[in-house]
Amino acid sequence: MQGFQGVASKLVKALQAQGISNERVLAVMETTPRHRFMPESLAHKAYDNTALPIGNGQTISQPLMVATMTQLLMQHQCHKVLEIGTGSGYQTAILAQLVEKVFSVERIGALQYQAKRRLKQLDLHNVATRHGDGWEGWSSKAPFDGIIVTAAPNNVPEALLQQLGDGGVMILPVGEAQQTLYVIRRFGDQFEQQKIGDVRFVPLVKGALL
Ligand code: SAH
Repeated sequence: MQGFQGVASKLVKALQAQGISNERVLAVMETTPRHRFMPESLAHKAYDNTALPIGNGQTISQPLMVATMTQLLMQHQCHKVLEIGTGSGYQTAILAQLVEKVFSVERIGALQYQAKRRLKQLDLHNVATRHGDGWEGWSSKAPFDGIIVTAAPNNVPEALLQQLGDGGVMILPVGEAQQTLYVIRRFGDQFEQQKIGDVRFVPLVKGALL
């Protein structure tokens, strides 16, 4: 798709109208080619403000959700960020343009491989991806000053709390049929949580890797 800037600008205006105000977040969402993160047959919908299927029963998150979570993260000093649920790699690409280093874990091997290739093609080299179970985080790279989870666990994974550095922030949905987006901050051994609102994500699956 050539000349996606027009539709991307329109999308960014819609995000602004819905309360996204962080200039850096809006700027990277305006220039990142979301159509490169989905099957070509859906590319004509890439700049609609909707989640779309990416295969393996998964979805690329809705732009408003990506913007909301990224904006919440950027309210804090984040240099080293862990993402759980790479999926298409779109949220990863947005983060890579805003922080120094992104580590991203995906449970489905085929999605991880594809996302890794796309990120490389877009010259985003400050990203490390891993095929693994997000419930375990990525302990050898911890601590992280930001963690963002793009699939919903039914409770906050203990490993992620442990891998959050002092002063760090984690953005994650929690729940099953009913899900709530939380911001959790760590102060020493204390965790402070703030409810943001109701959301809808695919589940953070436990068990065997695909
Ligand atoms: N940020 C992604 C969201 C993809 S949907 C995007 O916008 O494209 C959530 C992703 O989480 C899916 O790819 C799913 O396979 C992955 N996922 C689910 N359970 C997981 C787990 N236990 N560990 C790692 N990834 C998981």
